[in-house]
Amino acid sequence: MNGEFDERGSLRVVSIDDKLQPILTEVLRRNAGEAEFHQAVREVLESLGRVIAKHPHYLDQALIERICEPERQIIFRVPWHDDKGQIHINRGFRVQFNSALGPYKGGLRFHPSVNVGIIKFLGFEQTFKNALTSLPIGGGKGGSDFDPKGRSETEIMRFCQSFMTELFRHLGEYTDVPAGDIGVGGREIGFMFGQYKRLTNRYEAGVLTGKGLAYGGSRARKEATGYGNTWFVESMLATRGTTFEGKRVVVSGSGNVAIYTMEKVMDLGGKVIACSDSGGYVVDENGIDLGLVKEIKEVRRARISEYARLRGTGAHYIAGGSIWDVPCEVAMPSATQNEITGKDARTLVKNGLVALGEGANMPSTPDAIQIFRSAGVLFAPGKAANAGGVATSALEMQQNASRDSWTSEQTQTRLAGIMRSIHDTCAATAEEYGAPGDYVLGANIAGFVKVAEAMNALGVI
Ligand code: GLU
Repeated sequence: MNGEFDERGSLRVVSIDDKLQPILTEVLRRNAGEAEFHQAVREVLESLGRVIAKHPHYLDQALIERICEPERQIIFRVPWHDDKGQIHINRGFRVQFNSALGPYKGGLRFHPSVNVGIIKFLGFEQTFKNALTSLPIGGGKGGSDFDPKGRSETEIMRFCQSFMTELFRHLGEYTDVPAGDIGVGGREIGFMFGQYKRLTNRYEAGVLTGKGLAYGGSRARKEATGYGNTWFVESMLATRGTTFEGKRVVVSGSGNVAIYTMEKVMDLGGKVIACSDSGGYVVDENGIDLGLVKEIKEVRRARISEYARLRGTGAHYIAGGSIWDVPCEVAMPSATQNEITGKDARTLVKNGLVALGEGANMPSTPDAIQIFRSAGVLFAPGKAANAGGVATSALEMQQNASRDSWTSEQTQTRLAGIMRSIHDTCAATAEEYGAPGDYVLGANIAGFVKVAEAMNALGVI
């Protein structure tokens, strides 16, 4: 072990196997400047030393090098007219990362920060996450640097139609099946499905997931990521003989993942006292009023600052700042990557954090993860804890393929079973590889081995 400065300039402990270091060095070299992708690859490779000691054939078959290289990367122009007739040009992406286990599967993100490095980190993570679900889905991710904030419904529709006019030729229910992510919800999926149907003249329901219930969507898909993360944390708490009952919980974000995390946490007896958006956070010591958050975010599509104004006494809004300053026993980051820094992690630990479940993709920086691990916090990495969303997408594909539609109860029962099994697989794998309770190691190894075994069987392709 030795210290090293990472891409963000902070000192961290590095423990990468000597045989894997050249692979990482090559990934960093040929993907220069893609900090988030480097971070995601480094974390997985740090977990694989124990795997190659047990299965040296993964090295001979260059499986790690192959897994770090996307199968295909598509970058395209997306021109569209705003309501005043002015032309805008955005950039569209789809990274088809790995199809050893099934068609590429993963969401589309519309956010001004989107670039190829971010889509690659998300596609890489998605590959292992999807493997952990044990359902037949490969990994992919896409999106655009389009900023939906402040855009009218007709502008959003024109953008989605233009985006799909290029993307449709790369998709198909047996090829690549996108869904939503940040900035892409049911409305956007509807516009994109409409344009796909028009261009192909095929009602191919299984080509997109996260669809509305009116045209082939799955019940419980909207709730799935948040409910799944909460069930995962519930399973972790149970290993220490405790539950959500009476615990103070902070949930960052106020989008789809955050809303349904709060709903399930409250269901299980937890007290959610804070949530946020990109402008700031609200603290409500009486417990967040979820009906009000839903009204503000899902109906009015307004800012979370409105919460304090409408709720009145007891609630206050803090512009900027860090939501992780709010003392809590359980943290559920559900906003975006790298939202918990080392400093935030130290504050959370000092304030008595017991467990953390990552609802967002890679919300904790590497130094934050080190701090949680050495403090003995129950830490659920996103690729395991937030897999409920994509798992339910795969259940949506099953319903579409069989032209069937399940009840909410049936779907939630399947989802709860999948989350329990992901939890148990991660715990058992960590134990098998000599690191009991280390869910990061368990998730990385279990996900990697599933994909690597399939790739090995398929030959050098
Ligand atoms: N964007 C979600 C994720 O990060 C869901 C992807 C999907 O349903 O395909 O897993």
